[in-house]
Amino acid sequence: MYDSVIIGSGPAGITAAIYMKRAGLNVVVIGKDDGALGKTNKVENYYGFENPISGNELLENGRKQAKRLGITIVEDEVVLIEIIDNGFQIKTVNSSFEAKTALLATGADRQIPNIKGMKEYEGKGVSYCAICDAFFYRNKKVAVLGSGNYAINEINTLLPVAASVTMITNGEKPIENRSSEIPIVEKKIREVRGDESKIQQIDFEDESNLNIDGLFIAVGVASSTALARKIGAMINGKNIVVNEKQQTNVPGLYAAGDCTGGILQISKATYEGMKAGLDIIQYIKKTK
Ligand SMILES: Cc1cc2nc3c(=O)[nH]c(=O)nc-3n(C[C@H](O)[C@H](O)[C@H](O)COP(=O)(O)OP(=O)(O)OC[C@H]3O[C@@H](n4cnc5c(N)ncnc54)[C@H](O)[C@@H]3O)c2cc1C
Repeated sequence: MYDSVIIGSGPAGITAAIYMKRAGLNVVVIGKDDGALGKTNKVENYYGFENPISGNELLENGRKQAKRLGITIVEDEVVLIEIIDNGFQIKTVNSSFEAKTALLATGADRQIPNIKGMKEYEGKGVSYCAICDAFFYRNKKVAVLGSGNYAINEINTLLPVAASVTMITNGEKPIENRSSEIPIVEKKIREVRGDESKIQQIDFEDESNLNIDGLFIAVGVASSTALARKIGAMINGKNIVVNEKQQTNVPGLYAAGDCTGGILQISKATYEGMKAGLDIIQYIKKTK
């Protein structure tokens, strides 16, 4: 069992890992891709660089620094975090990790599509958490909006309870290595409709529609809020709520960087990564 699993290999996650590793903790970092920094052409407001540095170069430097200290960085996608007896189980597409603490450093939540009607039906049939809400859809017709591994994870949670589950990709190509045989609609959505109390149907751009009782949003990779929500962490809009030590309301679960909101900058991400790292060190010391 690890002392800490860090989800996200951007500035927040890597900084936290560096502090923890240097204090002797047994840590692993899991990251799917290059996050926000990978989209950054030039950074010239971060300390220590005479000339602008590209986001990719800064990212690579950070990862090399971590690897030099012996930190393992696993390239994988986290689809679920669960609370277990003495910590957390972190499930990825290819593996599973157990740790006494977990740090969410997954960057800003940017993947909620702007579909007409969707906001209006949040809590009235539109859900962001299959494991939390599947029970309410026993023997009902549901759809999952998404096209990747995260959507498949949500589908697999719903299949044993719902009467039917349809994957709706909203124009995206679905991933190929799906294990479950489920109907897939690749059409673009025009609108989500229903009556005052609940969602009833999805209208597609080609004028066709699908009757549903529930729509689960699982677009792209599991966002920080999606992962946090499933284990009862408090969310405010698109941000995870933390205290000044980067602790969430779930003991042992921390969050740092863009996923906690506020100023979305590298300095803030590394600052919060450092704070989370330092507090996790204290947390682990107390449990030993
Ligand atoms: C175009 C652009 C330009 C910018 N320019 C600047 C600038 O000039 N100066 C500045 O200070 N800041 C700039 N920023 C902001 C800066 O990039 C971010 O504030 C910073 O990268 C946040 O760090 P983070 O570690 O919190 O998140 P990120 O850097 O976004 O890293 C998130 C990590 O989480 C991983 N992840 C997410 N979900 C999962 C999952 N389910 N499973 C596994 N891994 C997952 C990602 O793969 C990634 O490794 C810019 C951002 C953008 C988009």
